Amino acid sequence: MLKNFEYFEPTKLEDACALLQRYQDDGRILAGGTDLLIKMRSGSIAPKHVISLEKISVLKQFSSFPDGRMSIGACVTIGALEFSPFLISRMRLLHEACSRLGSSQIRNMATLGGNLCNAAPSADCAPPLLVLDASVSIVGPEGERKEPLTKFFVGPGFTSLKADEIVTEIWIPRIDGKWEGTYIKHSRRREMDLATVGVAVLVKVDADKEICTEARIGLGAVGPTPFRAERAERILMGQRPTLDLLGQVSSVASDETRPITDVRASAEYRKHITRVNVRRGLEHCFANLGFQL
Ligand SMILES: Cc1cc2nc3c(=O)[nH]c(=O)nc-3n(C[C@H](O)[C@H](O)[C@H](O)COP(=O)(O)OP(=O)(O)OC[C@H]3O[C@@H](n4cnc5c(N)ncnc54)[C@H](O)[C@@H]3O)c2cc1C
Repeated sequence: MLKNFEYFEPTKLEDACALLQRYQDDGRILAGGTDLLIKMRSGSIAPKHVISLEKISVLKQFSSFPDGRMSIGACVTIGALEFSPFLISRMRLLHEACSRLGSSQIRNMATLGGNLCNAAPSADCAPPLLVLDASVSIVGPEGERKEPLTKFFVGPGFTSLKADEIVTEIWIPRIDGKWEGTYIKHSRRREMDLATVGVAVLVKVDADKEICTEARIGLGAVGPTPFRAERAERILMGQRPTLDLLGQVSSVASDETRPITDVRASAEYRKHITRVNVRRGLEHCFANLGFQL
């Protein structure tokens, strides 16, 4: 049962920051509430002061800049991203992740910032944003700072956020040249299930489409936090992709995981699926770029 709490609905970011600063560990940010309210109902957390971001319009903006960068406000909903023409045409892997998160009811409430700040190892938007080299803008009493997503997740349910800090935006830098990316969610059911393994892959190739100039592999639900499989990524750099090489890369990516056994799958199964889906993701990306493997 929900314990009593004081509810705030500030209209300005500064006021939300001031409230958080006042209440510190007794205060909690509420975005879509699809994670927070479940934890509050179960009693696993019981904030005395809940600060909603719902009325702060600046957190709901979504902008693409002429220089190719993109900024997504922390309170843009997963549903808005699912139907964003920009994501559908130019950033398909993030669109794929959003369209596989929860149900349409959940997607209409859940926010991108909430998905990251909740810091579940299985968060669907984390692997694609990791391979997109995203960073988060954070405001707090000491002003604003930017943190690369690779440093943001520090453990299951934990981020580098201090008690009085708020994520305001998610930044995606411009990606130059020819590239392709995908997100593959493996779950027990297609709808309404958390990822058993989440794999995002992004590859860049040279102008003549002969070699892979950069490979990025983001993994979810196979370690305490979502992370980049950096050893595997390095194998592909500067190489001509072949089926043998992709097999080698996917085995190393699987070796880099530290999965647990839980109700969804055993650790061994998660390692196996990582290997299979990293390979599938790479094959898909290179095929779409016109490579004959
Ligand atoms: C039925 C169901 C199905 C689900 N399925 C999936 C799924 O398939 N994949 C998946 O990844 N997730 C899933 N989820 C989890 C959840 O919907 C997502 O993680 C969602 O994106 C959380 O966003 P929210 O806005 O609801 O966060 P909230 O619940 O409002 O907040 C989550 C946490 O982040 C903090 N927070 C939120 N925004 C900020 C901010 N801007 N700055 C600082 N702290 C902040 C809150 O204080 C809280 O601790 C599911 C949840 C439910 C209930």
